[in-house]
Amino acid sequence: MNIYAELISIGNELLNGRTLNTHAKDLGGELYVIGLQLMRDTTIPDDPAIIQSAVREALARTDLVFVSGGLGPTLDDITRDALALLLDRKIILDPPSVVAMAERYAARGRTMTPAAERQALVLEGASVLPNPVGAAPGQRIDLPENKALFILPGPPLEFNAILKETILPWLKIRHADARPKLVRIVQTKGVGESDIVTLLEAANFQPTDIDLGFYPGMGKVEIRLVAHPDFETEIETARQTLNTLLNEFLDTTPNA
Ligand code: ATP
Ligand code: MG
Repeated sequence: MNIYAELISIGNELLNGRTLNTHAKDLGGELYVIGLQLMRDTTIPDDPAIIQSAVREALARTDLVFVSGGLGPTLDDITRDALALLLDRKIILDPPSVVAMAERYAARGRTMTPAAERQALVLEGASVLPNPVGAAPGQRIDLPENKALFILPGPPLEFNAILKETILPWLKIRHADARPKLVRIVQTKGVGESDIVTLLEAANFQPTDIDLGFYPGMGKVEIRLVAHPDFETEIETARQTLNTLLNEFLDTTPNA
């Protein structure tokens, strides 16, 4: 069974050119490795109504929904409130997060202000996911129909730390039967995409059950073949056919 995930990145700065949204690449890559698929990546502004509609729609169609950003102490950090209203849950203080934050502050010779303490607020019923590199913890909310909503801080270091330390291990157990797709890569150089396609069409190269992706750049074209784990023979055959058809253009330099 395929398990699908969606990411909703929240932040005006991700839409106005200030910040490059790196979460989709990181999350998509990590999920792919364990056999789960990121199917959609939505970036939205710090606006409660937009946050609510985006999360409502994502939960309606997807098993795992990741929301990031807007959990900090500043006035534009509204994610928690917007989601509490959407899910009809209270916001409560998580004492272990307060302790962890107080320790982080003390280690830096700072005292924690009430504003900082707001970052330890979580939705009632959430499983709190410790943040090893920052203040606001992550949260996992288990929902009917085996769905899960993850609420994560925006800074990439924190997003990725919580993902790697708590979420991926949890997902690996929960979806132990998920099998990563098979991937094969053929690198070419000195030939354009359209010439490759012409060559492949002339040879009637149309493998079934295999997704083909063409990724041009810097005088090279990377061809990626992706298949369901049961199609080992098919993907190997397709790779060998491509190697034969594109023989004179193969880029075999290391790390090509
Ligand atoms: P903080 O407590 O740091 O405020 P937060 O959870 O409230 O964390 P934001 O305020 O949305 O998160 O973002 C904090 C920082 O992380 C900002 O500098 C922001 O640009 C960056 N950031 C947020 N989301 C992303 C993203 N998707 N990709 C890259 N950087 C991001
Ligand atoms: Mg913030």
